[in-house]
Amino acid sequence: MSYSVKFTLNHEQDTQRFAQVLSQHVHAGIIYLIGDLGAGKTTFTRYFLQNLGHNGSVKSPTYTLVEPYNINGRDIFHFDLYRLDDPYELELMGIRDYLETPDALFLFEWPSKGGEEIPKADVVIDIQKSEDELTRFVTLTVDSEALSQTLQEQLHGA
Ligand code: ADP
Ligand code: MG
Repeated sequence: MSYSVKFTLNHEQDTQRFAQVLSQHVHAGIIYLIGDLGAGKTTFTRYFLQNLGHNGSVKSPTYTLVEPYNINGRDIFHFDLYRLDDPYELELMGIRDYLETPDALFLFEWPSKGGEEIPKADVVIDIQKSEDELTRFVTLTVDSEALSQTLQEQLHGA
């Protein structure tokens, strides 16, 4: 079963707060980030990593495919598959080794480009821009009813 929570982000600070809340509840597994260019997938990731204690820059891995982080002993891999032409390229870059990292957390921008190479998501974050591009509509999907309720309460009004 999957459970969805819907909310809007009216300012970048709302995205920052959303990332803060999620970083307190999701410590390992697979996060999909869905949405058009400029929706805020990388911005979310930047705040998410900063909330976990990352101090340096967060570069968009558009050309490198993946940017690895080790934050307080925790392995986190930020993938951006936008420029991937063929999912097989992920085999060649050794994605299996990344995926076998114990207790790691994976954030995937453009997961659809990875086809079967990408594991199923534990958390899906879908960000859509409004027509005037000022507001972001988020649908957050998780597989735990308890977690969805907690997030619903904590993100209410975000
Ligand atoms: P993506 O990775 O989805 O292509 P980015 O995160 O790189 O998008 O870019 C999002 C842009 O939108 C940034 O320039 C950011 O400052 C701006 N922005 C405006 N409002 C928001 C918001 N509420 N959340 C995230 N980004 C926002
Ligand atoms: Mg991006």
